[in-house]
Amino acid sequence: MNCYHHENNPANGTCKNCHKAICKECAIDTGRRIACSHECAKDVSDYNLLMDKSKKLYGLDESGTKIQTGTLMTVALGSIMLGTGIYRYFEYDAIDWPSLLIGGVFITFGAMGYVKNKKIGISC
Ligand SMILES: [Zn+2]
Ligand SMILES: [Zn+2]
Repeated sequence: MNCYHHENNPANGTCKNCHKAICKECAIDTGRRIACSHECAKDVSDYNLLMDKSKKLYGLDESGTKIQTGTLMTVALGSIMLGTGIYRYFEYDAIDWPSLLIGGVFITFGAMGYVKNKKIGISC
């Protein structure tokens, strides 16, 4: 297979946007994928960005720390509840037991879930 743009050049790869065969000379490196033109390069880098974003969203990005979304949510919720309780204590001088209790329970469950998941090796 020869390059779509250069008849005499053997194709080095395919454009990841329009799938035309392209040679080294006209391939535009977008980081991980190659493109045949600047228009395609733009689309491919947009796609790269999108992939990076969704990878991060699901905690699949190897370069970043793996986040246990469920555990994190529980701990975050607990922190909010606990924070509200502490805030009310200082603001109104009244102990907001429900908020403190629920917050504490959430954080405990979150921590327990984290330890459990870590033991099994699940991170989702
Ligand atoms: Zn292309
Ligand atoms: Zn070419």
